[in-house]
Amino acid sequence: MEIKVPQHPSNLRLSEFELISRLFVPLATGEDALGLTDDGAIIPARPGYDLVVTTDALVSGIHFRSEDSAATVAARSLCSNLSDLAAMGAEAHCYSLAIALPVDWTLEWVTEFAGTLGDLQNQYSVFLLGGDTVSTPGPLTISITAMGYVPTGKALRRGGAIPGDRIWVSGSIGDAAMGIALLTDRLECPDGEMSSFLTSRFETPIPRLELGQSLRDLASAAIDVSDGLIADLTHITDTSSVGADVHLDQIPLSAAAEALLAKNSSLSTYILGGGDDYELLFTAPEDNEAVILALADRLQVRATAIGTVTDGNGVRVLDPTGRAIDIGMTGFQHFAGKY
Ligand SMILES: [Mg+2]
Repeated sequence: MEIKVPQHPSNLRLSEFELISRLFVPLATGEDALGLTDDGAIIPARPGYDLVVTTDALVSGIHFRSEDSAATVAARSLCSNLSDLAAMGAEAHCYSLAIALPVDWTLEWVTEFAGTLGDLQNQYSVFLLGGDTVSTPGPLTISITAMGYVPTGKALRRGGAIPGDRIWVSGSIGDAAMGIALLTDRLECPDGEMSSFLTSRFETPIPRLELGQSLRDLASAAIDVSDGLIADLTHITDTSSVGADVHLDQIPLSAAAEALLAKNSSLSTYILGGGDDYELLFTAPEDNEAVILALADRLQVRATAIGTVTDGNGVRVLDPTGRAIDIGMTGFQHFAGKY
């Protein structure tokens, strides 16, 4: 692996080898990374398994704010990728990291960034496989490619939903969108505890890896909620060539989101359209309901049935009387002004 250290005056005293040994080698804890001493890493084939590979790129000013802490940027970069592995039913193995540092980067920032990656690595049993560090005249850009294993042919896909399946979601929905709205002063929450819960849901996503792996033989289709509940469910309905009916009052909310929604019903846009929750959205045959609830109980993750797969097309959101709500799909798919 080659690390090119950007030559910014404030960092001239830091050599390429110091940057590697100080910040990146400690993250290369898996044997496959070869201690970052070679031109590439070697992932031995694992008989009986498929390797699932996913990449996310995050650009400052678009996917995070320039004032976000290094810890937040690290957590959102790595956990969004791990969440994609979870949505595929994979066991996380390792990740590579490409980072383009802007001209005003500081060693302190990169140190905090690497430190947070290290903490998350321990939490989710992954390691740094390799990568590249470059400088850019543009904004800070981070791209992580995560890799994970799934038994051959067992990966969860978006295309397997069948009319009659129940639609499920893990955790609670809308928290992260409310969190970033609080951080950007577009929303107010008088309760400090609730406010910090919602912002933490944006800053530190929790990839549902164990749940994803446990759903391999239970779910017919799966995705993680990154773009927004309706937008991501539409990815499943489009790929599966089915429709979906979702009951608005069955979508699981946190106590904090529920309290804010009770005061301002227009916040349902955050529930239906806000992304970044990184919960799992999946479909499963009706008969699997009891097993899924028992599984969720065992993993101490909330799992809630929110609707049914239909033989129509697209997603309908129904109010408590069963009437379809006009949700103006394009507005929800491109949830504007997030940051
Ligand atoms: Mg995804």
